[in-house]
Amino acid sequence: MRAGRVAAQLGKKVAVAEESKPGGTCVVRGCVPKKYLVYGAEYGAAIEAAQKYGWSLENVKFDWALLRDSIQTEVNRLSGIYAGILERNGATLYSERAELVDAHTVRLTSSGKEVTAENILIAVGGRPWMPQIKGIEHAIMSDDAFLLDKLPESILIVGGGYIASEFAGIFAGLGVKTVQSYRGDALLRGFDDEVREAAGVVQVHNGIDMRFGSSPTEIKKTKGGLIVSFDDHTKIGTDMVFMATGRKPHTTGLGLENAGVEVDDNGAVIVDEYSQTSAKNIYAVGDVTNRVNLTPVAIREGMAFVETVFKDNPTAYDHRDIASAVFTRPPIGVVGLNEAQARSEYGESVTVYTTSFRPMKNVIADKPQRCFMKLITEGKDERVIGIHIVGDDSPEIIQALGICVKAGLTKADFDRTCAVHPTLAEEIVTLKPRDIGKTTAVS
Ligand code: NDP
Repeated sequence: MRAGRVAAQLGKKVAVAEESKPGGTCVVRGCVPKKYLVYGAEYGAAIEAAQKYGWSLENVKFDWALLRDSIQTEVNRLSGIYAGILERNGATLYSERAELVDAHTVRLTSSGKEVTAENILIAVGGRPWMPQIKGIEHAIMSDDAFLLDKLPESILIVGGGYIASEFAGIFAGLGVKTVQSYRGDALLRGFDDEVREAAGVVQVHNGIDMRFGSSPTEIKKTKGGLIVSFDDHTKIGTDMVFMATGRKPHTTGLGLENAGVEVDDNGAVIVDEYSQTSAKNIYAVGDVTNRVNLTPVAIREGMAFVETVFKDNPTAYDHRDIASAVFTRPPIGVVGLNEAQARSEYGESVTVYTTSFRPMKNVIADKPQRCFMKLITEGKDERVIGIHIVGDDSPEIIQALGICVKAGLTKADFDRTCAVHPTLAEEIVTLKPRDIGKTTAVS
C-alpha cells in the first residue's frame, strides 16, 4: 500500500492487486484488530481494579458480539481508507489475486486479465502455519479468532510466541478459562532471558494456566468438547484449540518459478539488502521475505524500494535496533540487543542495569503485577545498546527510547536527564547496576 501510493505520487503508473481486503494482515487480521481486543480485555481488569478506587459496580457484563462487530466496522473503515488513498493518488486497485506469468506479467486469477509492468514488488505477507497433527481440523488459528460466533468457556492456546502470548492475555481478560501450552521452558524465544521469565509471570498473574515442555499430538472431538493429547502423555479437555505455532511466507502458487524468483526452504523470497530478488526487476518486502516480520519494517523496506527503483537512490533499510512490542497485559517493549547477544558481541565491556518495582497504580488496586526494566550498555563510554521493559505503557515508552538507542546515546545522557515524576518511565533515568539493586525480573 505504502510503496504503491508513494510511487503513484511520483507520477509512476501503478497497479496493486489484493485478493482480500486492502490493508494487509496488520489492518485486517493482525495488529489493529488484536490491539482492540487487548483494549477490550483491559477494560475488564480496569473495572475490577476500579472498585479499590471507590467505584461500586453492579451487573457488569461483557458482550463479545458487540466488541467483535465494533472492531470489524473499524477494520472495514480503515480498509476503505487504504483503497481510497491508492485510487486518489492515481493507482489502480485490482481486487483479486495475482500470480506471476513471467518476470514482467501477472495474471489476475478471477478475471483472467493479464497486466504487464516494468517493475514488480511482491508484498504478499505470510499466513498462519499449523503442524499437521491428527484432528488439526478442529483447531482455529489467528485469522479465525477475530470472527468467533461466540466466546468459548475454555480455550487451549498452543505456542509461546507473540500471537500465542497476546491472545492468551486477551481470552483470559475476556473471562475465558485459558491454558497456554508451549514446548519450550520460557515464552518468547529470542527475547532477553529475564523478559522471558517475566512474561511467564505476567501470564500467571492474568489467571492463565501455563503448561511448559510439551507439544500436542492429537485433537479429538467428543460430545462435551475437545480432548488434546500431548507428547508427555498428558491430556487437556477444552472447548476450543487455538494453534499459534508460527507463520510462513504466502508464496505457494504465486508463480515465482515462472519469473525466476528464488525462495528459501521456508518459501521466503530471497532478497539482497535492497530487497531485490534473483529476477532483477522484481523486488520483495515484508513478511514474504521472512526478515524482521513487523508491519513498520515492511513499510520501511517498501519506502527503500521506492528510493532505489524510482529515485535513483539505492537504499538498504537498516534492520538493527528496531523497537517492538508484545501486547501481553501488561505489555513488553524492547529495543536493541538482549543480554546474551550483548555479551556475545561485546564480552566483558557490557554493563547491565535493572530494576523491578510495583507501579503505584497497582498498589491501591492491590494487584501483584510488577514492572521490570533492563538497560544494557557497552564500552567505557557506556553506549546504550539494549532496553527491555515489561510494564504498562512500555510500547509507548520504548518508541521514544528507540530514538536514544538508534542515536547511540550513553548511560551518562540518560543520567543527566531529569525524571518526570510520578511516572513509570522515570525509572529509566535512575537505574543502578544490577548487582547493587539485586533485582530480578520477578521480585
Ligand atoms: P512466533 O514464531 O513468534 O511463535 C511461534 C510459536 O509456535 C513458537 O513459540 C514456537 O516454538 C511454536 N511452535 C512452532 N512450531 C511448533 C510445533 N510444531 N509444535 C508446537 N509449537 C510450535 O510466531 P507467531 O505466529 O506468534 O507470530 C508470527 C510473527 O508475527 C512474529 O514472529 C512476529 O514477527 C509477528 N507478530 C508481531 C506482533 C507484534 O509486533 N506485537 C504480534 C503478532 C505477530 P519455538 O519458540 O520453540 O520455536
